[in-house]
Amino acid sequence: MSPDRFDRVVLDAGHGGHDEGAKGPSGLKEKELVLDVAKRLATRLRKRGIEVIMTRTTDEFLSLEARTSVANDAHADLFLSIHANASPSRKPRGIETYFASLDASDEDARATAERENSAFGAAAPDFGNDDPLAVILGDLIESQHLQESSEFAKLAQSQLSGVAPARSRGVKQAPFVVLMGVRMPASLVEIGFLTNPDDEKGLRRKREREKVAGALADAVISFAKRYDARRGVASAISRDHARTK
Ligand SMILES: [Zn+2]
Repeated sequence: MSPDRFDRVVLDAGHGGHDEGAKGPSGLKEKELVLDVAKRLATRLRKRGIEVIMTRTTDEFLSLEARTSVANDAHADLFLSIHANASPSRKPRGIETYFASLDASDEDARATAERENSAFGAAAPDFGNDDPLAVILGDLIESQHLQESSEFAKLAQSQLSGVAPARSRGVKQAPFVVLMGVRMPASLVEIGFLTNPDDEKGLRRKREREKVAGALADAVISFAKRYDARRGVASAISRDHARTK
């Protein structure tokens, strides 16, 4: 085994247990949707020879520390957190991919990060300018991983826009605390708006979930190949013998 090659991913299904996350008008819960999509993605990646570690595989609450320590203890090559979005209005829909930044790319991105961070209660910092924690986190995310996190987010959003061409909302940045403590390239994907009835309806379907998982798997594999090429190591990715799409 080469220590530098891309061969291990941590998948983080958002929320769990008493923290249900977003909820659709007909009752679909974010915590259940994202765990199902994470499992589908794990199956696809394992078939390609990538080791997958999941922060949770059941309906349980996990602290911020638990999620980041799973990732850091695993010394993974990529951390991918899977979520579904919500809005006070039923109108917004579509998919967006994030990487961490202290400054949100727009007001909607800031609101999304605030909502997702609230699950961690007191662990979610308030990013005042003089907050020493903000300075520390700023150092963390200005690290070597920022470039690769951005690269992965672009690959993911590009693949996901193939699933829902009219509904791609682009790559954004926001202060998601779950991304800031991990010492590896990290990204968070919002696979749709549960508060939008059409998005919710789509995401209830297995077929749509498989498409999202397939797009994310393709993004991970593209990222892995570039990652290995940059480091000049042989790829661990096996050929896809059973392509179904
Ligand atoms: Zn969420």
